[in-house]
Formats: sequence, C-alpha cells, structure tokens
Amino acid sequence: MSLPDTIKLIQGELGAERDGVFGPVTAAAVLLALHQRNLENPVASVSTQTPVSSATIQFDERSEATLATLDPKAQPMFRQFLCLAKATAATFGCDYCLISGYRSWAEQDALYAQGRKTDGPIVTHAAGGYSFHNFKISGDAGVFFGKLYMDGGTPAQQAKAHQVHAACAQHAAACGLLCGASWTSMPDEPHYQVDVGHDSPTAADRANFQAKGSIL
Ligand SMILES: [Zn+2]
Repeated sequence: MSLPDTIKLIQGELGAERDGVFGPVTAAAVLLALHQRNLENPVASVSTQTPVSSATIQFDERSEATLATLDPKAQPMFRQFLCLAKATAATFGCDYCLISGYRSWAEQDALYAQGRKTDGPIVTHAAGGYSFHNFKISGDAGVFFGKLYMDGGTPAQQAKAHQVHAACAQHAAACGLLCGASWTSMPDEPHYQVDVGHDSPTAADRANFQAKGSIL
C-alpha cells in the first residue's frame, strides 16, 4: 500500500477527510486518538506504538516544494520538525508550512539590495553567501488558517501567528534545528536552520559549499 493510501486509511479510521495528505486536521486527529488510547491503556500503549516515519509522510504541496530545495541531509530534520510543528499548530486550529527554502547567492544579493533602496523596507540583513538559506540548510515557516497567511494578516492575526510560531519553535532543538527567534540582535521568528554550531556562515562554510555544494 502506498503511503498516501495508508494515510487515507488512517484518516478514514479517525473520521477525518480522506485526502491522503498529512495536514493539521489529520495531525490533530492522530494526537487525539493517541491521547485517548493512552488514557484507556497507558501501559500497553507504550510498547505497542509503532513510530510513524516522518521521512515518508506527504505534507502540503508548498512545504514539499520547499523541502525539495534543501540539502538531502537537512531534509529529514525539517521533516521531523514539520510533523511536530503541524501537530502543535493544529492545537491552535492552524497549519504550519515551510514556505521558503534555498535561495541562490544571486537571489540573496537581489533581496539584500531591495532593502537598501532609499524607501524600501529591509528584507534581509544578509548579502549573498551570508545567509544559511544560500547553503540549503534554512527554511522559513508560515502560519496559515485555511488559505489565509496569518503572518501577513491583521494585527490580531499576526498576534495569533506569533503564538503558533513560539509554540512550534519549542520542537526545533530536538530536531537538530535552530530557530531565529532566539537571536537577540535580530530575532527572525519564522526562520529555522540546521544547528551547525554557529549562527552565520563562515568563510570556511562558503569555501566548502562552493567546492562541494553542501556544508553538512
Ligand atoms: Zn529565513
């Protein structure tokens, strides 16, 4: 049986919509079912739980497209994180999606220049080669309510998005990721990167990436 078919089967069992996509409704239904099973049979549930592999779960289209731009070694970390983050966002009635991943050095330079025109807002503080997005190990997340992008919504929607980001960020470290919200000088709440031991790319990172296409 293919994985989408398996997810449909689980969705059928849980009474969720059978679309084969592991989204917030399915995540919430799974959490609820596990919670109920734990209440009913706390001892047996520990030994009989079969772990679900985040490597094969099909996320929403935008997250999948973003994941595909990342380093193959970074993808399992972000997949594991998304599983936990989507389940967490579901408890707020929202979805958590990866909306931006790899940017080439030229694209980064263009973004950097855009924020430095006299009247433009600052889009990024990093020029090409100075953001881990340029090394395929960073992704930006967005909070969605249906199709509505909460981060770009009304002040009330942005406040809710902030709550969801804060809750989801709690899972980052366990997945080997670092959230930009923890940066004291320039906090970047939706930003996640593989924790390589330093916050910004070094000259060695730039040399390695240009030589091998990966710093992992
Ligand atoms: Zn970012």
